[in-house]
Amino acid sequence: MAGIYLHIPFCKRRCAYCDFFSTTHHELINEYVTALCHELEMRKSYLEDASIDTIYFGGGTPSLLNYKELEKLFIYIYKVYKVNPQAEITLEANPDDLTTDYINQLKNLPINRISIGIQTFNDERLRFLHRRHTSQQAINAIKQCQDTGFSNISIDLIYGLPDSTLEDWNKDLQQALSLNPPHLSAYHLTYEKGTPIWKLREEKHLQEVKEETSDQMYDLLTKRMTDKGYIHYEISNFCLPGMHSRHNSNYWREVPYLGCGASAHSYNLFSRQWNIASLIDYIKGIQAGKPMFEREELNIYTRYNDRIVTSLRTLWGIPLDELKKVYGEELFDYCIKTATPYLNKGILSISGNTLRFTEKGLFLSDGVMSDLLWIE
Ligand code: SF4
Repeated sequence: MAGIYLHIPFCKRRCAYCDFFSTTHHELINEYVTALCHELEMRKSYLEDASIDTIYFGGGTPSLLNYKELEKLFIYIYKVYKVNPQAEITLEANPDDLTTDYINQLKNLPINRISIGIQTFNDERLRFLHRRHTSQQAINAIKQCQDTGFSNISIDLIYGLPDSTLEDWNKDLQQALSLNPPHLSAYHLTYEKGTPIWKLREEKHLQEVKEETSDQMYDLLTKRMTDKGYIHYEISNFCLPGMHSRHNSNYWREVPYLGCGASAHSYNLFSRQWNIASLIDYIKGIQAGKPMFEREELNIYTRYNDRIVTSLRTLWGIPLDELKKVYGEELFDYCIKTATPYLNKGILSISGNTLRFTEKGLFLSDGVMSDLLWIE
């Protein structure tokens, strides 16, 4: 079992908080898609003939690709790889790209899951974030996808926006829940260095929400979602039963994946590698038959650290018998020793055979996990 990730690094304009690798220059889309097809072929041995269980178009803005460009990518994927007929195939989309015509075209491709970047239903804040859609466009996009027969829809929200209150966040959650998405991801706003909102904060032109308000927002999120029957399966992710993101869940369970495109990461248990974060150099490298990437060989300690960071915050946690079997006695003992103070404080728990964060501990998880990491 394995996954394929395709990075589509094009955006119509840059959002004020974003530091992802993407560009607003679209003149290279055609060449880029051709390069992606070639990379898919060149790297077919990376996953050693594994069956492909998930495919994820992430960005950037994958919904900027037209039908023909997406179709071309699928032709290559199906030509080169063994794709499970039940594979989860996700396209990230911006609400204003999801016109009726475009959604109907997507329905004629193997895509069966749409992840919509909504962020907030407040128009003033959408403008502040430099998003290009309105609240009404977001609502219409979700309804249109549902009416067209896409039953697997995820929406992304951001909380902790400058000057926002608990009541604002409650309104966003109510609006989201009224649309019955089977999956919702909610992330706290982060101020990434160099972004426009980071500069505004540096220049004291905006007021960050207080830590206490952030905590209350997270509590409200988990309460609202679980009251409505959603499963809190990862710190930022909620789903109705059976509707978790299989692609992301596989990242958290050490399932190998191939990442194609500029800046995309790949992982196959033995190594991690990442493509060059430059559109021009990526395309040139592929055209010359010499993909540009960096690679790190993984040893048991780096694999253990990866597993702690990815799995512990999920509902599935880390099975202790697997921890001992895969990573050995030394790392098993180290994990239990470093976890013990947090087990005593009710931040981590062991239930049955599984080590995981408690609901109370999830929000503190970053600091706790760094204590569990192996330092060479
Ligand atoms: S659309 Fe997504 S990737 Fe593009 S700038 Fe906005 S947040 Fe970043």
